[in-house]
This record gives sequence, C-alpha cells and structure tokens, in this order.
Amino acid sequence: MLRAEIISVGTELLFGEIVDSNAAFLARELAKRGVTLHRTTVLGDNLPRLTEAIQTALGRADLLILGGGLGPTDDDLTREAIAAALGEPPHEDPDLLAWLRGLYESRGRTMPDLNRKQAWLIPSAQALPNPVGTAPGWWVQAGGQHIVALPGPPREMQRMWREQVLPRLPAPAAALRHTTLHTSGIGESNLAERLGDLTRGANPSVATYARLTGVDVRVAASAPTEAEALALLGPVREQVRAALARWTWGEDDQTLAGAVGEALTGRTLGVIEAGSAGVLCTLLADQPGFLDAAVTQDHRRLITLGLTPVTLHDQGLVSEQAARELAAGAREHLGAEVGLAVVTCTAGERAGQAYAALDTGQNVQVAQVDWPGEAAQIRERAAVSALALALR
Ligand code: ATP
Ligand code: MG
Repeated sequence: MLRAEIISVGTELLFGEIVDSNAAFLARELAKRGVTLHRTTVLGDNLPRLTEAIQTALGRADLLILGGGLGPTDDDLTREAIAAALGEPPHEDPDLLAWLRGLYESRGRTMPDLNRKQAWLIPSAQALPNPVGTAPGWWVQAGGQHIVALPGPPREMQRMWREQVLPRLPAPAAALRHTTLHTSGIGESNLAERLGDLTRGANPSVATYARLTGVDVRVAASAPTEAEALALLGPVREQVRAALARWTWGEDDQTLAGAVGEALTGRTLGVIEAGSAGVLCTLLADQPGFLDAAVTQDHRRLITLGLTPVTLHDQGLVSEQAARELAAGAREHLGAEVGLAVVTCTAGERAGQAYAALDTGQNVQVAQVDWPGEAAQIRERAAVSALALALR
C-alpha cells in the first residue's frame, strides 16, 4: 500500500492566519484512492527546515506532496528545498520560460525577472502545467519515490491535482470502502458501550466522532479489490446498524434537515424561533415541506403566535410550556400540519438553556438543552435539538 506524507508550506499557515484546507482536501482525495496518509506537516518559509523535512519524509514515504511556496518571491522556497534535498542543482528550462513569457504577453504585460525561477527544473523533475496561474508544479521521480509540488491557492492546487497528479499516480494497491452512520440522542461513551467489541477491529475499523448533530460512526474496510472491501464491510455495517437503530437518523451525505424533510412524509411544517436568530430556519431552508416561519423575540408578537401571558409571566419565555404553546401556535397561526418551536437563551445567567417542542396534532414531544458556550454555538445546538425532535 502506498504511504504518503503532506508538507504544507507557508508562514501564514504556521501563524494560524489561514487554515490548512489544502491538506484536508488532499487527505480526502488520498483516502479515496486507497493511499495511506501517514503524516501532515506544516512548515514556514524556511529553506533549511524545509529541506530537512523533505529528506526525513523521503526516508519513510513513497509519495510526498508539497503545497505552496511555488510563487516568484524570495519566500517561495519549495523548488529550492526539493533541489537541495535531492542534491540536484536547478536550471532554467527554456520551454517553461517561453510558456511563462507567453502567458504575460497574452495579458499585454512583460514578465518580471523575479518570475524566472518559476521556469526552474531539476533533472528528476517534470513540470506540471498550471492552467489557472503562473506557478507550474513539479512531478519528481526520486528512485522508486515520488515528490509532487503544487501551488498553494486551493483553486489551482485542486485543479492540478485532478488533471495532472491523479493520472500519474500508480494504480491503487488496495480499495477502501466506508460508510458513516449519523446518530443523535446518545452520548459517545454510551454508544461505544453498545458497540462493544466492534470498535476493536482493525479491518473493518469502527470509529466514533462527536459532532454537533450527534455522534457519527464510521465503518471502513480495505481489501485488494472493491468487491472484497465491500464484502468485508457489509456484515460489520449491519451489526453497527442493528446496535444503533434506535438513534440512527441517516448515513453518509444525508443531513439532519434532509432526514427531517423525509420524516415529514408530505406534511407541512411551520417553525417559530425565539432567541436562535433564524438558525433553525436556515437549516430547514431547502426542505420541501417547510411552509412558513416566524423568527422573533418580541413578547407581544409571540403572544399573537400562541404564547400565553400566564406562561410568559410565571415560567418565562425559555420554558418547556412556552415551547409547547408556540409549537401549537405554529400549527394554528402559520397554517402548518406540524408545528416546531424553539426558545433559546444565549446571554446572562441562563445562557445555554433552550427548549424545543414538536406538535403533530396527535402528540407533542419536547427536548431540553442545557449546554453553555458562545452564543453562536448555543443557537446551533438549540436548532439541532429541535430538528432531532422531528425524527423521534
Ligand atoms: P503563488 O504563486 O500564488 O504565490 P504559492 O505556491 O507560492 O502560489 P503560497 O504563496 O504558499 O503559494 O500561497 C498562496 C496563497 O494560497 C496563500 O496566501 C493562501 O491564501 C493559499 N494557501 C496556501 N497554502 C494553503 C493551504 N495549505 N490551505 C489553504 N490555502 C492555502
Ligand atoms: Mg507565494
């Protein structure tokens, strides 16, 4: 199996000024191809450290991918570092130089001298054309190993990855197949207990990830062929499904809002949100049954939508009773078959408390949230709890 490493180059990455989204993209791409990623390193624009990192990585990986540092300025050092690591002095390639000059001329400009180093090559490197920028990449064959250098801007990097690198990669020695089950309403440790020994297998592997929408369970299997990987995955996936059926709302690309849309089975949904600034409505925006909504914290307006003054006075807006009354109000005043309401407190002593209620006309379900944090997180948790109600 091909072992890969990524080195993301750029002082701005090291300082946290930008997030390394290139490594995340490449990691997903490699996984799809059955290439095992062993390490991702972030380095600043520093020639000795970069050179050393390349040499070290070549001591253990078959494929080394470098992102960034291919620009024309003095702090763009990826070419220099690869050349130094392999002990191959760079030379200016006449064809590349002509291509670069042509690029500038076609825009009515003269190429600055600084850009000449973008026409560099070393004997073991081939240039990878860049259809959307001035920085060509490098495809380097060093013994049985490969080094790929791609420009930093994600649009350029992704396009070159697809068009230039993928066709050059050796055929995958193994196929990887995986499924992710999405659950809600069960904590990660409870869920791990239910899975028992299933989480101890190495192939297929079963791993849990806590997310805002609940805990995800990823089942992955690798084998020489896709058919074998699928055959290996199948029984374990079924065991996981059976153990978690009560809490599972979807798989893979399914979203919580999409699952709610399906659970509505043609009925219309009305939503009243107080204190969560429309986050619930935004999540539901694309669902076909989503009929109408009111997003307001104004007490007088909430009273016209079904909240009783008695509840407001005795229990306050952020209470179970208020959520129940507004869920009924969403049916009555918004003309929907199913009413969903969420009342949320994002500031002060009760920050993090929220109640959600779902009223189908036949029955009412409620959920309580008590989980402090930043206002934006609280709104999102409240909205997600309201969605999860619709799936019970
Ligand atoms: P250029 O020719 O544009 O200078 P380059 O190969 O030299 O390309 P960098 O200078 O390292 O690339 O990065 C250019 C820009 O690309 C960065 O300012 C940043 O916006 C984006 N970028 C670089 N690396 C990453 C990364 N790992 N993840 C996300 N964005 C990145
Ligand atoms: Mg640059």
